[in-house]
Order: sequence, then C-alpha cells, then structure tokens
Amino acid sequence: MRPDITLDGDVMRANAAAFAALGAPVAAVVKHDGYGWGARRLARELDGVVESYVVSDEDELAALRPATAKPVRLLTDAQPGRLGRVLDLGGIPNVANRAALAEAAAESARRGGLTVRVGILDAAGWSSIRPQDAPAFAAAVAGTGIAVELWTHVISDTRAGTILEGFVAAMRAFESAGVRIASTDAAGTASARRGLAFDRLRVGVGLFGSRLGSSVDNGCALRVVAPVVRRFGPGEAGWAGYGDTAVENRPVAVLRCGYGDGFPKALADGADILSVGMQYTARVMHDGADVRALIGGADDVDELAARAGISSHELVVGLAWK
Ligand SMILES: *Cc1c(COP(=O)(O)O)cnc(C)c1O
Repeated sequence: MRPDITLDGDVMRANAAAFAALGAPVAAVVKHDGYGWGARRLARELDGVVESYVVSDEDELAALRPATAKPVRLLTDAQPGRLGRVLDLGGIPNVANRAALAEAAAESARRGGLTVRVGILDAAGWSSIRPQDAPAFAAAVAGTGIAVELWTHVISDTRAGTILEGFVAAMRAFESAGVRIASTDAAGTASARRGLAFDRLRVGVGLFGSRLGSSVDNGCALRVVAPVVRRFGPGEAGWAGYGDTAVENRPVAVLRCGYGDGFPKALADGADILSVGMQYTARVMHDGADVRALIGGADDVDELAARAGISSHELVVGLAWK
C-alpha cells in the first residue's frame, strides 16, 4: 500500500503554455533526471508544447534523447574529448573555456559550422564567462564558423540590472567581433517576464506549478493521494500519528503517506494536518473534502513549500517517484 504520487500532464502542458504566453517558447529544464520525476517521462508529457530541453551534461542528454527529437541544450561544457558525441546526440553544447572552444572550433571545421552556448555571468558560475572576458573570447570565436547562443541566468531581482548590463555588453562584444548570435535566453521560472523572455524561457520548477514571484498563470501539477488506513469518528478518543497527537473531538483519518514519500514533516500544523511520520499522516476530516488528497490542483506549490520551510525545488524533487 503506497500513496499515489503523480503529475497531471494536462496541467504541466498548460503551465508550459502559460510561460510561453509571456512572449517566448519554453525550453523545459529537465536536469537531475527531470527534477527526479524522470526526464523521459516529462518529455513524453511535454514534447508537443515545448521548444527544446535543457539538461546538465552528456549522460543526461543520452538518457533523454530516445524520448524526443527536439534540441537539447547543455548547461555545462562537454568533458574533454566528448564534444563529438554530444553533437552526434543532437546536443547544443556549452562552451565556457578556451580548451572547450578549441575543441568546438575543430568540430566546426569538420562539420562545416556549429552552434554552441556561451553563458555570461551570472549565468551560473560553473558554466559562464565574465562580461569583461567577452571581447577576448568573442575574438577567439570569430573566424571559427561557430555561432553562439548567448545566455545568462537572472536569478535575483536585486541584481537583475547588473546581470543584464553585463549580458548586453557581452552581446555587443560578440556582434562587433563578427560572431553570429543565433539566439539569446536569460530567464528561469523566478525571472520569467515579458521583458526578459528573449528567444526562449528556461523553465523547470514552473512546469510543476511554482512561480517563485513571477506573474505566470500556472497551476499545481503535483498530485498526492494517500490510502486511508484508519478513521477516528467524532467523539472517539485516541491518539493518531505516533502517540503524541490527541485526536480530541475531531474526526481524523490516518493516511499512508509520510515524509518518507516526500510529504514534508513540517506541513503538520495541528489544525488540519495533525502529524506527519515517515509513512503516515494524521489529518482532520472536513465535511465534503476528500481527506485522501494531500496535494492537488487547488494547492499552491510555493505556498506549500513556504509552509514546510523548504524551497519549491526541494518540494518538487522530494516528492518525485522514488
Ligand atoms: C535549473 C536552471 C533553470 C531552471 O530553473 P527553475 O527555477 O527550476 O525554473 C534555468 N536555467 C538554468 C541555468 C538552470 O540551471
């Protein structure tokens, strides 16, 4: 007997459409094996509505490829000697240092041109170049036949201005070096908005229903339905959970779902959820409400995560199919 923990594919597709309505197609970020839910599984749900995918590395690219014919962008540089394989798998590689660039130039010569991604700080510290290094890097790209997808990662509102200034300066550096800029992207879920949409939005946790402060009309795609293992009627004295929670004068159901399943222990608030153990949750039954549905379409992913004292990413990854 296990809780039924699933994703609503219709909601996920509607969420992708809600982000795309901000003005740019969505690249579904399915790193860490699709936030734990299975990258191929997410691709089967999303392939009709997303422009492309984003994964971390060659292994994730290889795992995802059987599920989609769409472009797959990589967040990190290929390992030395592995660029050819990444390209053969239809990956769009990242290039953040001169050794990787030299390898890309050789592949470009062999293949009659190549598109790579170049991240500009604060893209992500491990896979980007500093704006001040852009002119020299652009000069090294020029003449190789390489076109670049310039990207950055606007992660904070407070530093958005600085990040964008560096990004635009780098864009100018590549342009004046004569490098073709194939596309640009800058925003994830938190920074998704019209002015930052550029050529695509890179959305991960937003597909599950998180907004992280952005104004997107998405909904909770997480579904947690737990079997009832015991009911306490009104007036029936007893102890639910692991003995420290009095049922008192309330009707209570004990459900087979707990923090071992990714349902955060901190969601126990004493009002509705009485206790959350490793496998069992004790919950007050309300008239007309489905006591088995612990998380559903009416929930707000960010609000749930905040109540649990964790990030929305942790909530989503924690609930993933084990
Ligand atoms: C993980 C990641 C994303 C997606 O982030 P979410 O907050 O899950 O939407 C976008 N861009 C980069 C560079 C990332 O590493």
